[in-house]
Amino acid sequence: MASPAIYPTPPHAFDRAWLDVDLDALRWNAAALRTRAGVPLLLLVKANSYGLGAEAVCRALGVPFADDRYAPPVGTEAPWGVGVASLDEAESLRRAGCQGRIVCCTPLLATELPRAKHLAVRPALHRAEDIDAWRALAGGPYHLAIDTGMARAGMRWDTVEAVREAVRAVPPEGVFTHFHSADESLPSRIEQDERFEEALARLADVLPPDILRHRDNSGGIESRTGGSPGELARAGIALYAGLFAEALQLKQTVHLRARVVDLREVHDGESVSYGATWTARGTRRIATLTAGYADGYRRHLSNAGQVLLHGRRCPVVGRVTMDMTMIDVTDVPCALGDVATMIGRDGSDCLTTEAVATLGGLSPYELLVGLALRVPAVYHDQLPASYPSVHSVP
Ligand SMILES: *Cc1c(COP(=O)(O)O)cnc(C)c1O
Repeated sequence: MASPAIYPTPPHAFDRAWLDVDLDALRWNAAALRTRAGVPLLLLVKANSYGLGAEAVCRALGVPFADDRYAPPVGTEAPWGVGVASLDEAESLRRAGCQGRIVCCTPLLATELPRAKHLAVRPALHRAEDIDAWRALAGGPYHLAIDTGMARAGMRWDTVEAVREAVRAVPPEGVFTHFHSADESLPSRIEQDERFEEALARLADVLPPDILRHRDNSGGIESRTGGSPGELARAGIALYAGLFAEALQLKQTVHLRARVVDLREVHDGESVSYGATWTARGTRRIATLTAGYADGYRRHLSNAGQVLLHGRRCPVVGRVTMDMTMIDVTDVPCALGDVATMIGRDGSDCLTTEAVATLGGLSPYELLVGLALRVPAVYHDQLPASYPSVHSVP
């Protein structure tokens, strides 16, 4: 049996579709990444923890909160801090009582700096005028962002002289860069490593000796066997097992469930769903599931996805619609109300996030982030291996 949900979930949430989030798997993944990186982690919980729920993820991983409800098992090593992409994300964590370190990894506008201070957020700064403004505010710790080739945010590695005086006046707590292809191209990662070293060397006389240097994202962590250089590593997608599950032996964290809400026979030559893109050969039995692309089961999975029902794989037939998806259950006895697993594990089989993304030609990042759209999340400390055909409402 599943242990009680971490947050009370309204019983009607179970009628349609929901997301089982396995907190034990999440803790396992955090520990595996911590070991692999060899340095403390800054965990990325932006975009509502890639769709899993930022507060629940932070609590489960031991980030300190004003109350210790839902505290993780004793011995769980808390991450160094968490990373967000906006002050709104930071505010919702602070409102929930989060007392951990929060770094905002996205550049802020100068007008946002007072709010960052108010929320005790560590901003990523790279313009001299912003660093000066932060100093004038007595804003607190900040991290200096260096662009080594991503060309998205941060001071270019070869123009860091521009921040020398500002940095001298108020030294940063951390300094970081971000890889564009750490998981795809080793030469590009090495080039960015070298540029980062160069920037650090150029600023060596103004950076404090105990500065926290960080550069590895999930791909960076995965790409090294000897641990992450510097003092911290920033893990996102791998924490949620959206990538590198096999290589790093990570555990599936999300399980998207939906119920069979209709069953019918379609006859030879008849089509299913919008656009009539799938046509039955012979008589087929079709089940309609209560989740579609508004629940994060992306339209790209039309005629391509697979779904687990009673531990067996059934193909998606026809287009995925906004609220419903049809599967071929000709060979799988099933009944109205049965629970299908559209992403994740049922019995001994598992449709990993990466596998489902691959079936649909999707980025696992987008697939995960989309899960937050409509389905309620149900948090478990331990998930049963096999899903009962009719889930009993706790
Ligand atoms: C999102 C993000 C990460 C995490 O990247 P993953 O590939 O998900 O591990 C790390 N650092 C920064 C600056 C980010 O914006």
